Amino acid sequence: MTRALVVVDMIHDFVREGGALYCGPSMALVVPVIQRELERARAARELVVYLTDAHMPDDAEFGMFPPHALVGTPGAEIVPELAPGADDVIVPKRRYSGFFGTDLDITLREKKVDTIRLAGDCTNICVLYTAADARNLGYAVEVVEDGVTSFDEEAHRNALRELEKTLGAKLVRSS
Ligand code: ZN
Repeated sequence: MTRALVVVDMIHDFVREGGALYCGPSMALVVPVIQRELERARAARELVVYLTDAHMPDDAEFGMFPPHALVGTPGAEIVPELAPGADDVIVPKRRYSGFFGTDLDITLREKKVDTIRLAGDCTNICVLYTAADARNLGYAVEVVEDGVTSFDEEAHRNALRELEKTLGAKLVRSS
């Protein structure tokens, strides 16, 4: 098994109170969990990938959500507590799924990755749809249960169930 840690959308606009699409106080709780995951992954020499929302001003998503994560703005930057290292890969995305219109799949394949471990936000949006595409592409998926969250607690719980029961993802806890 060759695993990569995939950190989803831990950027200022979602993580920070006052950010364009702040996801709520649970964001502060997942930061230390993801810090532990980053330490674990780097110690194990696993590939670390950051998916980051990176929107154009007229992106279709803004029909549903307020503008956020505009390319080139501070809101689109990864929070410094989870700063990428020199060997980490950053994959900007314009859709919920980190695989859609990006080079995530070939990046993982070139590193012989067959399993991805997801952490970040939101459980029911970008985590869920990235996991769905990963499963369609044949990757095994793990989700750090205490390292994912959402602005909508019920949607978060439903998504965890969907991830486990429909997509066959393995729910793990950060140790
Ligand atoms: Zn977005």
